[in-house]
Amino acid sequence: MSEIPRYLREGYLSVEELKRYIGLPSEERLRQRPVAVPECPQEIPCTPCAEICPTNAILMEHPNATPKVDYEKCIGCSLCVQICPGLAFFMIHYVGDKARVTLPHEILPVPNVGEEVVLLNRVGEEVGKGKVVTVVPREKSRGDTPIVTVEVPLELAWDVRAIKVVRE
Ligand code: SF4
Ligand code: SF4
Repeated sequence: MSEIPRYLREGYLSVEELKRYIGLPSEERLRQRPVAVPECPQEIPCTPCAEICPTNAILMEHPNATPKVDYEKCIGCSLCVQICPGLAFFMIHYVGDKARVTLPHEILPVPNVGEEVVLLNRVGEEVGKGKVVTVVPREKSRGDTPIVTVEVPLELAWDVRAIKVVRE
């Protein structure tokens, strides 16, 4: 019997597993414009990301296959982040010494543009603070999930995968 992968036992992908199973865009590509990365390593019958992509950048060999992104074809429209029911798609864009991370945000409240928020890593630990750059609210999101783009220190680009809104 094959061993259950660590990410299934513990419930999250590490950055090393992300590199091994998904593959990261090059730094050059990350600096050009936002690029979508599918953090979805499990073979499940699910295809909305591939169906909604306007440039056919998301490739799936069959409906149970894991999605792969042709990073050169991705135009950074964020529709895959909006539609993914598993909250497994993210976008990353390197801008100077910061990174802009676009992520689904299902926990109320939804932050405002310009607001400072707490940054959470893949296991929900607080790793710093970041500034919200854009928000697609629930009513405008194609998947009913608000999505937020937050600016984070460059070194946290592959760690931050959620935010917490803290208001006095
Ligand atoms: S961001 Fe847009 S273009 Fe890029 S993979 Fe997602 S849906 Fe396709
Ligand atoms: S929509 Fe989300 S959960 Fe479904 S295959 Fe695409 S990335 Fe995976």
